[in-house]
Amino acid sequence: MNHIPKSHPRAKSLYIREKLVDAFDAGLVAKEGLMAHGRGEAFDYLIGEKTSKSAKKAILAAAFMLKNAQNPVISVNGNMAGLCPKEIILLAKAAGAKIEVNLFYATNSRRQKIYSALKKNGAGKIYGMDKKNSTKLSGLDSARRIVDRDGIYSADVVVVPLEDGDRTLALKKAGKKVITFDLNPMSRTAETADITIVDNVVRAINHLIKSCKNPRQVKFDNKKNLALAIKEIKTNLTKRASHA
Ligand code: ATP
Repeated sequence: MNHIPKSHPRAKSLYIREKLVDAFDAGLVAKEGLMAHGRGEAFDYLIGEKTSKSAKKAILAAAFMLKNAQNPVISVNGNMAGLCPKEIILLAKAAGAKIEVNLFYATNSRRQKIYSALKKNGAGKIYGMDKKNSTKLSGLDSARRIVDRDGIYSADVVVVPLEDGDRTLALKKAGKKVITFDLNPMSRTAETADITIVDNVVRAINHLIKSCKNPRQVKFDNKKNLALAIKEIKTNLTKRASHA
């Protein structure tokens, strides 16, 4: 529990951290998820803990892609379920997307806890729960290759927040369009996805829900947009350095 005032610039980040730690204690988040969060926090500092211009552009492009997809699916891991369970459901509704639980460090207990958290927040059908309906993505060697036949396996567009590079690459090889939220604009996932939203998922998901309700086409190039995200970090750092 932290005791800094709500108005402090770091208060929101510390609140997000507490939410993740609570989700870890409740068995939703893996140990590795805590480390991935720490890496994200470092990049959140660098982007100034706000939704940047490049992120806003990626969000518009993502909303348009989702609304024009035939079978969009949102892949949910422990960190996502811990940080924004309500918003996942709102996004699924706004985008007309399915929800699938898909875990890197999979255990039945964690899967069930994530399922319950999503249900408690109003989710309808959740894919990835029925072993009989599972199949495998090629090019992956862990539990992550197991996907739902009627979910990710048959999706044309997959939202994979806070994902690792191998899985993103496997999804691309399987012919999927990939949208990701990743605070690190230099990660393999960021570079492999079709649309990378370089922002904290906790902030960006609300913008994406809003944009799905009023989608519009924008000219978008992920590589150029990532370069812009890196430039934004550089500008932030230069500003900070000039105050030193
Ligand atoms: P890659 O394999 O893609 O190079 P990685 O090895 O860092 O990346 P993971 O360990 O799965 O992959 O890390 C997940 C990613 O999620 C990290 O890049 C981290 O910055 C990002 N991340 C963590 N928390 C958040 C968050 N709340 N919002 C957005 N991104 C986040």
